Amino acid sequence: MKKEKDTALVNSKEWEDICERCGRCCYEKYEYRGKIFYSDTPCKYLDTKTHLCRIYHQRFKLNPECVCLSPELVKTGILPEDCPYVKNSE
Ligand code: SF4
Ligand code: SF4
Repeated sequence: MKKEKDTALVNSKEWEDICERCGRCCYEKYEYRGKIFYSDTPCKYLDTKTHLCRIYHQRFKLNPECVCLSPELVKTGILPEDCPYVKNSE
């Protein structure tokens, strides 16, 4: 039931509208001593001028490394601290 609720939330406009389209979460990350750090290397599908994904509607099909932004993912600490999803979940 919770999974269904999360799926509905993730597919909602309300959830998408939280994103400020800064594109920072689309840069390669690495983990060091349990903390996530961002590199200066963008995903090859990120338009670094507009900060938008060039394959947004096909991203999971074309990029197996692209993960769905869900409340569960937000809890993992993978997003930048000032991302609105993180701030909203605090
Ligand atoms: S870091 Fe947050 S606000 Fe920026 S693009 Fe990613 S999800 Fe959206
Ligand atoms: S494929 Fe995923 S990680 Fe790459 S730019 Fe698009 S949304 Fe970001």
